[in-house]
Amino acid sequence: MRFILLLFLSLTLSWAAVVQKRAWPQGESFLLYLQHAGIPQSIYWDLDREDKELCEEIRAGVPYYELYDDAKKRLLQVLIPVSEELQIHLYKDVKGKWRFEMVPVAYRKIEESFAVTITRSPYQDIIRATDNGYLAHAFVDAFKNSFDFTRLQKGDKVAVVYSEKIRLGRPYGLPTIKAALIESHGKKRFLFRYNDRYYDEKGREIEGFVFRRPVNHVRITSRFSRRRWHPVLHRYRAHLGVDFGGRRGTPIYAAADGRVIFAGRLGGYGKVIKIRHRDGFMTLYAHQSRFRRGIRRGKRVKKGQVIGYIGSTGMSTGPHLHFGLYKNGRPVNPLGVIKVTKRTLYGKKRRAFLAYAKQMKKELEAAVAQDRKPSRLIDLSRTCYGVNEKPESGKE
Ligand SMILES: [Zn+2]
Repeated sequence: MRFILLLFLSLTLSWAAVVQKRAWPQGESFLLYLQHAGIPQSIYWDLDREDKELCEEIRAGVPYYELYDDAKKRLLQVLIPVSEELQIHLYKDVKGKWRFEMVPVAYRKIEESFAVTITRSPYQDIIRATDNGYLAHAFVDAFKNSFDFTRLQKGDKVAVVYSEKIRLGRPYGLPTIKAALIESHGKKRFLFRYNDRYYDEKGREIEGFVFRRPVNHVRITSRFSRRRWHPVLHRYRAHLGVDFGGRRGTPIYAAADGRVIFAGRLGGYGKVIKIRHRDGFMTLYAHQSRFRRGIRRGKRVKKGQVIGYIGSTGMSTGPHLHFGLYKNGRPVNPLGVIKVTKRTLYGKKRRAFLAYAKQMKKELEAAVAQDRKPSRLIDLSRTCYGVNEKPESGKE
């Protein structure tokens, strides 16, 4: 399963079949794709709710693969990523019937550390050293709420420990800053990523972009997961948002200030509103019974403003809100970003954090002491899934 793409490629050699890499067209739905590709649409209708939702996560511009026989006439298999972790695999079984399965995207993860001496700005200096704009962006993003970059001067140091996915020999997706150090005016400022949040050296959370809950007094019925193996169904699943169960008609609030970029129907998600926020964030509110009057594409909304009402449109077993949060097009766990209070780690959690931070600190300080150079593994043809925020399709 893991090596499905390799299998794909080896089939190419043995059968003289042809693999075609394509970019997912703007405005194409999965259902529409099946029609265009001549694959029975019953494949989609037979899916369960969660898989139907995932079919709405295919992004315009994402590379997908089609395998044809040597005459390039008959489509044999298709691979379509729905996230950095999972992809749809469509194939004909031995009886010639089309099948659908979710398979993991094969990649390996690398961890790197390096140091850079400031000559202009962390952003420019990291790009110059690594050729990796995404990494420079992630660094600035991590520190911007707790550090004033204008205080930096020439000769100051920054160090970074980060991880990145490599797929087919190339960087894939967005890098993650695991720990970072700014050494300025003889003072050291550390930052550590721990359970998807950033903390300082003492285990105090560093404030990021703050969202509110999109609904009041309702319970969470399904949590976020990027990829999990279902031991009973024997399948890979994912849930790229949080479900809040609530009565039909319960008001839904904008999680932060922003602009509505979509208000309409979207297959398995039913009636959907998408709001774009600053810093590359986007929120999605699905299965609504109706939108609030006046909420339409292009409309500016305030945090806490009612935008619609809970319902069960699309693929939904009962009234609930499916709430999705995306950063630069990549789904993130909303519960990691919605904040009730700023967190400080205590007790056992704090001890575990401090042990982790100590090890990361050592790594960062060693990088500075050795003036460790980054390895330049970035390639301009990176297969970046979901990095470029494409304009949303105009379906309303
Ligand atoms: Zn959901």
